[in-house]
Amino acid sequence: MALDYKWFEEMEARIPKGEVRTRFAPSPTGYMHVGNLRTALYTYLIARSMGGKFILRIEDTDQGRYVDGAVDVIYNTLRDCGLTHDEGPDIGGPVGPYIQSQRRDLYLKYAELLIEKGGAYRCFCGKDTDESDDAGFKKYDGRCARLSPEEIQAKLDAGMPYVIRQKIPREGETTFSDVVFGDITVPNDSLDDNVLIKSDGLPTYNFANVIDDHLMGITHVVRGSEYLSSAPKYNLLYQSFGWDIPVYVHCSPVMRDAHSKMSKRHGDPSYEDLLAQGYLNDAILNYVALLGWSPRGEREIYSLQELTEVFDITGISKSPAIFDIEKLKYFNSEYIRAASPERFAALAEPYIRSVVTDPAMDAGKIAAILQQRCEVLTDIPEKIDFFSALPDYPTDLFIHKKSKCDTAVALSMLTAVLPDLEALDSWDHDGIYGLLVEKAAALGVKNATLMWPVRIAASGKAVTPGGAVEICEILGKEETLRRLRLAVARLQAAE
Ligand code: GLU
Repeated sequence: MALDYKWFEEMEARIPKGEVRTRFAPSPTGYMHVGNLRTALYTYLIARSMGGKFILRIEDTDQGRYVDGAVDVIYNTLRDCGLTHDEGPDIGGPVGPYIQSQRRDLYLKYAELLIEKGGAYRCFCGKDTDESDDAGFKKYDGRCARLSPEEIQAKLDAGMPYVIRQKIPREGETTFSDVVFGDITVPNDSLDDNVLIKSDGLPTYNFANVIDDHLMGITHVVRGSEYLSSAPKYNLLYQSFGWDIPVYVHCSPVMRDAHSKMSKRHGDPSYEDLLAQGYLNDAILNYVALLGWSPRGEREIYSLQELTEVFDITGISKSPAIFDIEKLKYFNSEYIRAASPERFAALAEPYIRSVVTDPAMDAGKIAAILQQRCEVLTDIPEKIDFFSALPDYPTDLFIHKKSKCDTAVALSMLTAVLPDLEALDSWDHDGIYGLLVEKAAALGVKNATLMWPVRIAASGKAVTPGGAVEICEILGKEETLRRLRLAVARLQAAE
């Protein structure tokens, strides 16, 4: 088969030079694993911190795993997290296409080039089981590597199906360098002559990633440490082609505990699950950044922009990081507290409206009393359910030593303040606050002695976000008066 050298030259000529280029190469699985999000983030940060390009490549050659809408999950996650790519399937770029399934013709050509260069050979053994990437437990004995040119031609002429295998040297050893793991050397005879091109002409991951990384001019390959053991084979491929080997940055797994990796199948949350559990995307991203990378110093809260400024590959650790949901919760509450009131109100609104449906109760005002008091957005409904329905509370709630309140005091306070509240025209924060403070002074009691029973009567709960004034304002005059009158009736009945 004649090789079209001009075409290879053109492919080479397209490769951008003189800049750092990293790629995030997810397979469309339908969800974003926390470890993958971290890989995306580190890949992005390496590019950005060195003024380089961040490229998105979709690795969909394993068609068996096709999931509807899965590519959108990737785009949406990158967009929500602000990990903007410079080249990718949706925006194009100089070395496209950026979806592996659209590059399929190219891999076979490179495999044929590799055969010519002595780095691969056709194998006619017809062992389909050996074709998949992970069927490496039984080493192929390499017999087809020893076929003579005449034998090969005869088999081709007879139309025998074949795969293309990598030709691994039998002697010697291969060393590769990883920024995180250092130099690793393996004896070549421990490496298998892996299938590069399957009998259907499609590449295996092991081949496609090397071809793509080279043709896309990738300078830093960032990926999970599960690929470490394949790196020597990749180096041998680069060497056979005579190509530069990229810088490898393998990242240790994100663990659920000391023994096992985080896994969606075992119920660990994906990025989307965390969003659904009420975590903010920037809090997740900040926390994920620290799973396996440490900034210098004690500081932990970093925006994406700040991470870009401080990120440094040497801070990536090779010990596996344990995902700690409590720690993430802490980050989340910090992000919630630091958010602008407008942003928090927008985030909280759906949760607020899931329980408080009366449009007269202002979701923005409810958000304002919640902002300093919730760790995750999903905390919201149970914190504010009393707005929509007054709980059936015991009168003991009125007893509060610090506020100098008991049931008798509560009854007298509520009875005293009700007519004033009934007469109040300006039912807003300042109006209600002014009235209560004035009334407490007139009654000769501490503000708390009056505020406490008003808040309990209005909410029916010992602990609420917001105080008496905020709660009465949000409930509105009519509902507040109804609840206060009900409290008076309860307290009288309990006497
Ligand atoms: N498609 C591979 C994965 O999702 C990416 C491996 C790589 O980055 O080289 O695991």
